[in-house]
Amino acid sequence: MVAFLGTIRPVPYSLRSFANQRLQLSLSRFLISVPRHGFSFSFPKRSIQASLHSESARNSTVAASTGEQSEIIFMGTGTSEGIPRLSCLTDPSQKCSVCRKATEPGSKNRRLNTSILVRFPGSAGMRNVLIDAGKFFYHSALRWFPTYGLRTIDAVIITHSHADAIGGLDDLRDWTNNVQPFIPIYVAKRDFEVMKMTHYYLIDTSVVVPGAAVSSLLFNIIHEEPFIVHDLKITPLPVWHGQGYRSLGYRFGDVCYISDVSDIPEETYPLLKDCELLILDALRPDRSSSTHFGLPRALDEVRKIQPKRTLFTGMMHLMDHEEVNEYLLKLKGTEGLDVQLSYDGLRVPINL
Ligand SMILES: [Zn+2]
Ligand SMILES: [Zn+2]
Repeated sequence: MVAFLGTIRPVPYSLRSFANQRLQLSLSRFLISVPRHGFSFSFPKRSIQASLHSESARNSTVAASTGEQSEIIFMGTGTSEGIPRLSCLTDPSQKCSVCRKATEPGSKNRRLNTSILVRFPGSAGMRNVLIDAGKFFYHSALRWFPTYGLRTIDAVIITHSHADAIGGLDDLRDWTNNVQPFIPIYVAKRDFEVMKMTHYYLIDTSVVVPGAAVSSLLFNIIHEEPFIVHDLKITPLPVWHGQGYRSLGYRFGDVCYISDVSDIPEETYPLLKDCELLILDALRPDRSSSTHFGLPRALDEVRKIQPKRTLFTGMMHLMDHEEVNEYLLKLKGTEGLDVQLSYDGLRVPINL
């Protein structure tokens, strides 16, 4: 373990506007504690706005080709190890048909770490807000950023501090070195404490050898209360992800995203009311694990929450995309449930 050293490099731009936005600097200049009540900000820092604006302008040109429609892009829909599993591909018996199918071009069984990109029109063009950057983030971005004409990452919101949610923070360096000056990260205090160990050099940049380029991240501590990212209200959805371990889902508009959950506390259900689109963890087809919903439990939760539409995510290799979706389709006829598996690269228009 590496101790957090506590010194940081100077922020490369004026902090005056932070004060204007009533943001409280604490711990380091790269850590901002978000007030618990009644704040609103959208990172309008004059000193950097010009440089960001040029990016936004370029980005809006790309966005114009797809309209100004808000949307979700599924960057990854698979469990931590990814699908296909290497151990299945090297198994002499070749008994795992899902992993074999996952190697075929365009297969919906090919899944990287769970993550979504939320795109919505802001005052300075389309905004790209990423939820989680896991250890396969580079590979996800490689597949979908050029394909969908994406360029900036306007913020990253973290669900929890497992490797499949934060392992890609290092890869953000390509953006902050070559696309934009920094990326705001929104993270719960407990997960920030973990990052001090796993990504100590992104927090305490004084340990970085001069001239070496690392991601330039601006950490914002969030609480289990709504916060604003580029004018979009985000409501944390606290859930359990294994006994005693908290993870956060997020609600924006009438979309609820819960990627890592083994139990939903009673106090979170009211936050899920009138959900249009629920994106929910469903690891395996037969049963739940100690840290994730299996499909039967996930379906029970859908019956309880009653969203208009549900897309499952976080599937392991036992979930065959076509077979499971065929089964789920039948539930529409029998129970009126609109439930399907998501897949990497899926684009879903949303209203925010
Ligand atoms: Zn397999
Ligand atoms: Zn996890």
